Amino acid sequence: MKKDIASMNFEELSAEFKEMGLPKFRATQVYDWLHKKCVASFEEMTNISKDLIAKLNDNFVIFSCTIEKKLVSRYDNTVKYLYSLPDGEYLECVVMDYKYGHTICVSTQVGCKMGCAFCASGIGGFKRQLAPSEILSQIYTAQRDLGLRISRIVLMGMGEPLDNFDNVMRFLELVSDEKGLNIGMRHISLSTSGIVPRIYDLLERNLQLTLSVSLHAPNDEIRSKIMPVNKSWNVDELLKACKIYGDKTSRRISFEYAMMKGVNDTPECARELGRKLKGVLCHINLIPANEVPEKGHERSSDNDIVKFKEILEKSGHTVTIRRTLGSDINASCGQLRREKIKEDLE
Ligand code: SAH
Ligand code: SF4
Repeated sequence: MKKDIASMNFEELSAEFKEMGLPKFRATQVYDWLHKKCVASFEEMTNISKDLIAKLNDNFVIFSCTIEKKLVSRYDNTVKYLYSLPDGEYLECVVMDYKYGHTICVSTQVGCKMGCAFCASGIGGFKRQLAPSEILSQIYTAQRDLGLRISRIVLMGMGEPLDNFDNVMRFLELVSDEKGLNIGMRHISLSTSGIVPRIYDLLERNLQLTLSVSLHAPNDEIRSKIMPVNKSWNVDELLKACKIYGDKTSRRISFEYAMMKGVNDTPECARELGRKLKGVLCHINLIPANEVPEKGHERSSDNDIVKFKEILEKSGHTVTIRRTLGSDINASCGQLRREKIKEDLE
């Protein structure tokens, strides 16, 4: 079995090279090609001899994504990629052009186990975990294609990042490494559906990233209907973990709340949410839900969303309504892959 070289940190790669009898500067060169120049093959490493390239190809593989489809929004420069992986799986990622730089939304799994009622990512179930190198390659491939540098990352694509904990932690280590892309933790957000024990594990890592929590409901009755994870860790347990996380890190947690007509968007829901989040250092993001044909929910009306926001603000919270980017290219995660799988079956 060839080893996944781009998932190794510099120490591991150096140890491998040492064992092969290669001088230390070779590890420095190769790591630089992989993580700073972001190449997808050993052949592109121009300061390395043909012999060594052959040796590297014998021992290692560079996992990388291939662009299958690229959609560019006419409205706001949002770019959406459908990538394929060497084993034939598909995944998607989105690059958004904000005033302060380019932000990429990456996937952490192929499919998802969590089964949220409104989400396209879980359609077809869970396929497999992504390796650290496969999460990185989504960024490297987009940067190469667009000829620009990504400055912010959100782990909000397909999959539940805390259900792929070790690989995601290694990804964070590599992407923030100064020998690599060197994207600071303060420019990274991780979104979770609420796997409470892993939130505590994350807290122990003491990272300066932003934690986003997909809450989507103010109480167990509604949340358990739309998010099965709530049956394992309910709203109280989740909010307790969030409060501890916020207190210990002094970082503001971001709560995601997808607004679905008649499901979670009444004034009563807003009042209950306002009460429950009292004392939690947080920011609330209201997201007009994306309608997914198989899922059947409808987006709340603009009027109801604005009313919801006002009630939360009156109870002292900071709230934003998320702009929908790339609305003409189906830019919400999971939708492009869903279409591709359907096409392949037809
Ligand atoms: N699994 C993680 C991260 C990926 S999902 C999580 O659930 O947090 C990224 C965000 O998109 C989450 O807040 C998720 O709840 C939200 N989302 C999923 N489907 C959506 C839809 N149809 N409309 C609006 N938001 C959606
Ligand atoms: Fe998975 Fe997140 Fe989608 Fe839920 S919302 S199914 S956790 S990707």
